[in-house]
Amino acid sequence: MRVVDIREKSVDLSRYSDPKIPSGGLTTSIVAVVTDAVRGGKPIVGYGFSSIGRFAQGGLIRERFAPRLLKAGDVGPRDAWTAMMAGEKPGGHGERCVAVGTLDMALWDAAAKIADLPLHALLRQEFGASRSTPAVPAYASGGYLYPQDDLARLAGEMKAFKAAGYRRAKIKIGATTLERDLERIDLAATFFDPGCLAVDAMNSYDRRKGPEAAAALAARHLMWFEDVCDPLDFETQTEIATAYDRPIASGEALFSAAEAKLLDRHGGLCRNRDILLFDPVHCYGLPGYLQIVEALEQRGWPRSAFWPHGGHLFCLHVASALGLGGVEVNPASFLPFGGLADGAGPVDGKLAPPDAPGIGFELKTDLARLFATL
Ligand code: MG
Repeated sequence: MRVVDIREKSVDLSRYSDPKIPSGGLTTSIVAVVTDAVRGGKPIVGYGFSSIGRFAQGGLIRERFAPRLLKAGDVGPRDAWTAMMAGEKPGGHGERCVAVGTLDMALWDAAAKIADLPLHALLRQEFGASRSTPAVPAYASGGYLYPQDDLARLAGEMKAFKAAGYRRAKIKIGATTLERDLERIDLAATFFDPGCLAVDAMNSYDRRKGPEAAAALAARHLMWFEDVCDPLDFETQTEIATAYDRPIASGEALFSAAEAKLLDRHGGLCRNRDILLFDPVHCYGLPGYLQIVEALEQRGWPRSAFWPHGGHLFCLHVASALGLGGVEVNPASFLPFGGLADGAGPVDGKLAPPDAPGIGFELKTDLARLFATL
């Protein structure tokens, strides 16, 4: 395919199902990549966005990566990625990796539409299926601290996750006192089986608070304890991982294979216990994510340890096709990006990606409407 036009804009995002509750000014970029392939008299267009959590990337997309992509000629998604990365130096990942990953998502959407295949099927062809059925274990993510009526709203959210068929969930901690967090955890845990609730500390603990929180969490049989401290504070993470004998989840805010190897070498993680959260969009898109998977597999990590961050359809296709451990879903947060195709839901705690050509954004009415504004 040849990319003939790229449209891009920044949009607001909310962590809450009620977007009026303040979310710290979060944004993401949406892109439309128009190709020279035509079907039914119309050009095939791929859509992408910057996953969630790292803000919009318009400047880098407009100034660096879109112009290179427009000059790339007739290419598949992998050669298009190489064209976007031309002249970029190693290290200093900053958030350019998110800008590249945003366009990469749209390229895969377009390539799968051109092949007339759902993305997971195209990826199986390209990279070899390692899982015979498309469905992957899934958990519902949310549980942010509400500024008002927190416990009642948290209970309502967990109840809705359970009613939708999710058997596992994750809530946020670290934004209030440990005492209050333990109250929130104990409440959320009542909706799920033991070992099926994870907590995400959003990188909030330091060397003093981390071990104290780990000691309090140890007795609660959590699915995992995520983002325990600053993403590059391997010393604190090692201390917590050594004292805490349940799974630790890490890697969400690391974006390259080089950083992933540092995490493995110095982060105190245990390869047959802990969870790797790298976000395929934030890690320079799928080609960058595959470099991380390959580097860590070579160092002894199983694919089942990878549960990609993101909570949206693109990651569901990636987890399904690559045979990863499972996938996050944001059923009520970061809408319209979070969650699944309209009417889709888990079966026996597992999710299959949509079967429409591409990523299937067209089956998610609210998101398709937003992309159409491009
Ligand atoms: Mg996290």
